[in-house]
Amino acid sequence: MKNLQLTLYLFIVLNTCFAQPDRWQQRISYNIDVKMNAATNRFTGIEKIEYFNNSPDTLFRVFFHTYWNAFQPNSSMDMRSRELGKIILGVDKQGKEVRDWDPRVKDRILHLKPDEIGYQKVAYVNINGKAQTLKEHETILEVALKNPILPKSKTTFEVSFEAQVPLQIRRSGRDNAEGVRYSMSQWYPKMAEYDYQGWNANPYIAREFYGVWGDYNVKININKSYLVAASGTLQNKNQVGFGYEEAGAKVIKPSGNTLTWNFVAQNVHDFVWAADPDYVMIKRQVKNGPLLYIVYKNADSFQAPFHKLADTAALAYPLMAKTFGLYPYKNYSFIQGGDGGMEYPMATLIKNAGIGTAIHEWMHSWYQGMMGTNESLYPWMDEGFTTYAEERIMGELRQKKTFAQEGSYSGYYKLVKSGFEEPMTTHSDHYSTNYAYSNAAYSKGAVFMSQLGYITGDKVRDNILLEYYRQWRFKHPNPNDFIRVAEKVSGMELDWYKEYWVNTTKTIDYAIDSLWEENGKTNIRIKRIGEMPMPVDVQLTFKDGSRELHYIPLNLMYGEKPVESDTVPRTVHEEWRWTHPTYIFETDRKIIDLSEVQIDPSQRLADIDPHNNLLKIKW
Ligand SMILES: [Zn+2]
Repeated sequence: MKNLQLTLYLFIVLNTCFAQPDRWQQRISYNIDVKMNAATNRFTGIEKIEYFNNSPDTLFRVFFHTYWNAFQPNSSMDMRSRELGKIILGVDKQGKEVRDWDPRVKDRILHLKPDEIGYQKVAYVNINGKAQTLKEHETILEVALKNPILPKSKTTFEVSFEAQVPLQIRRSGRDNAEGVRYSMSQWYPKMAEYDYQGWNANPYIAREFYGVWGDYNVKININKSYLVAASGTLQNKNQVGFGYEEAGAKVIKPSGNTLTWNFVAQNVHDFVWAADPDYVMIKRQVKNGPLLYIVYKNADSFQAPFHKLADTAALAYPLMAKTFGLYPYKNYSFIQGGDGGMEYPMATLIKNAGIGTAIHEWMHSWYQGMMGTNESLYPWMDEGFTTYAEERIMGELRQKKTFAQEGSYSGYYKLVKSGFEEPMTTHSDHYSTNYAYSNAAYSKGAVFMSQLGYITGDKVRDNILLEYYRQWRFKHPNPNDFIRVAEKVSGMELDWYKEYWVNTTKTIDYAIDSLWEENGKTNIRIKRIGEMPMPVDVQLTFKDGSRELHYIPLNLMYGEKPVESDTVPRTVHEEWRWTHPTYIFETDRKIIDLSEVQIDPSQRLADIDPHNNLLKIKW
């Protein structure tokens, strides 16, 4: 409770300091009606869309994603996977070659039979009753408009479509490895986002997502035996039952073999649902937080892990809200489905009830859900920040005494050594290997956030996290937007950090070069070996057990971080000009008194060679 008050207090204080960004963005409202045939795994749907063109541009065409066309032999997704499968990353412990393809995908798409493939066929797109001209590009539908959409105007579309649910290959599909009938993500023709950088009509080859902010009103008609879980809030709880009904309410189901489920989600950029006749549900109201739905298949082996998930999620929420900001929706659903863990607004599909995965997916509600960063262009701002949050929350839950982010640092160090690294400015579909994408987006992205704490101080970095949440949620921030928040909150220049860490593959390596005594004082020379410059913390430990922290700001920062330790006295030295490979500072103590010199004892600096960071002196 106290912590939440602190969070609110911070919002109010920071609120008065910085103006809101005023970038325009499109807006959409979907009314979707679908009728699922659980015998054929096909459904038909009508989408009524209100589209608000808030841009200053006239639009002559629009684009829809038709993701499921990827699940057909020889599709771009299939070919991409098989081509990546030719790249050998190395050998595993058994001496077997490790291929770069996603083990969930491999060449499985190539072998799908006609009743196992996925498709989305759009019959028509009408505007004011007039059919528009359609051109299919596999997973992208181009709609040439009879009349252009003018700036600052609203257009109403009607889209009629028919779809077949693919056998589960990646994320969505039917009959996954745990027998869940329907994992329904990327299931409807979805308008591509048009933003200040233009159309984002990325063909679907494996990853990532980006959508228009809007509201969803979804009606799903399906066989009565199925429990449906979804993004949004169920509107007709007392008609469907299954535990959704209000306490004490009498459930009155309509007659017939099917039920229509009506979900509404507001201010989201996607909508997921899942359905299975064997689903059961745990409801858990988090104190000062959302109502959680935990939906899983009714089998003995799933009972304990999903109950544990419910308990842990409720425990974790106050920690998440304190550090990253409040979760703004009424409910959140953990739904068994898919093939691992995949995030959607207000819900996740998870294959098993792993706690780390569950916390990771829920934390995506902040960076994928609320920020809605363009994941194709900046996957590290979603996966990296989410991984940072997951490791931090898991560390707090486990009351871990050691540094919580070590998994991400080691992933990043391996990437550097692998020779596969590419700059994080690479479009997520266009990395040359899955390996480089994953380790950049998840590990190097998480290190970006942890290491920011090294530069600004952890407390300031935490204020940056909350201010970023306050300024940019529901607005699609880009890397520069994040850095500007960090600069304003810290009072430092930080563009150099983004430019080196994100735009290049240059690495950090500082070393203790030499020590000598002059006039009773000890000189310490530090050397920059890596090409990326950073501020440097050096801790001196003396034989009597006392310590000194020597802090050398980088000249590009035009600032210094606050004192972080109450116990170790700190000396701030002259700035280190980035052009200079060495730097000498002194301490008043004699060289004979020294027992240890260490660069960055906090281990937040991603120095790729730790061996030259520590000098133990034996006299
Ligand atoms: Zn993730």
